[in-house]
Amino acid sequence: MTAPKTKSMKAVQIAADHSIRLIETDVPSIEPDEVLVKPCACGICGTDLHILHHGFPGTHYPVIPGHEFSGHVVDLGSDVTGLKEGDFVAVDPNVTCGACRWCKIGRPNLCETLTPIGVGRPGAAADYVAAPARNAFVVNERLGGTVAAMIEPLACVLHALESSQGVAGKDVLIFGGGTMGLLAAIVSRLKGADRVVLADPAPGKRTIANAAGVPEAVSPVDLGNETFDVVFEAAGAKPALTQAIDLVQKNGVLVQVGVLDETETATFNPFRLYERELRIVGSNSCADKFPEAVDVMSDIADTVRPLIDDRHLVWDFEAAVGDMAKGLTIKTQLHFEGQR
Ligand SMILES: [Zn+2]
Ligand SMILES: [Zn+2]
Repeated sequence: MTAPKTKSMKAVQIAADHSIRLIETDVPSIEPDEVLVKPCACGICGTDLHILHHGFPGTHYPVIPGHEFSGHVVDLGSDVTGLKEGDFVAVDPNVTCGACRWCKIGRPNLCETLTPIGVGRPGAAADYVAAPARNAFVVNERLGGTVAAMIEPLACVLHALESSQGVAGKDVLIFGGGTMGLLAAIVSRLKGADRVVLADPAPGKRTIANAAGVPEAVSPVDLGNETFDVVFEAAGAKPALTQAIDLVQKNGVLVQVGVLDETETATFNPFRLYERELRIVGSNSCADKFPEAVDVMSDIADTVRPLIDDRHLVWDFEAAVGDMAKGLTIKTQLHFEGQR
């Protein structure tokens, strides 16, 4: 894997008018503290749908999408240490300033000038992508590109678990059997939750949850009134949120992981909030959990691999997004010619 010989590359571009185009553009030039990565695999998720259809906060059109990716380092800026050409990396897409109030108190995901790769700057749906070297984490090649590209959503889930103040010894309920919900269920079990229940209306997703080692996967209509210490709303759906608030146990917490539309509102019962001393917290992206996600992924790789059930060549981005939007698959990924 060596530096590109040509100055131009192919890329997928989403324009402000929501059109998807295949473009020929310059290979990104790298800053002294950046690396150039040749992507192996790149997941697409709800964020990409938001970017495509109406914009996601911080979107810089026209944008090359792709923020959940793995790949090989092919070029390094002059100041980069600790990485070398050929390194297999997973990339934390969240580029932060390191200097604002939120960065200084260790809340990088709240950075005033957060510029995620694939949202606010060019992403991985291209022959090459540039990233700050500090965002690139070396991963064991044996994991494979597809599993390594799942480290980003895993890091988001680890942040959500931390936002809940821990699940060990607790009863956990998760709404949504997509990537985030399934990873939350898998990791909750790993972190010692007493009981993990996943709720999703789709029987197919419940079967996949069972196969991923989550024995209690039910339809939301069958949940009844039983309450839980920690409830994750990972469906990004208003009915799930409304039901979720009602099912939080005394002193419990509801963690909003799912991304609803910016304009959506929801109601809750403030008396219940007071009476049960509930907490409702949001969990946004992966914060500082990327290094931990690299470690945890090596323990759960075999459970995670079957969740990647839909793959398209990167240049078929439109078909990939179309598949993903149908909600019938768990994780849609883009793959790249000649890359594993
Ligand atoms: Zn994502
Ligand atoms: Zn900052």
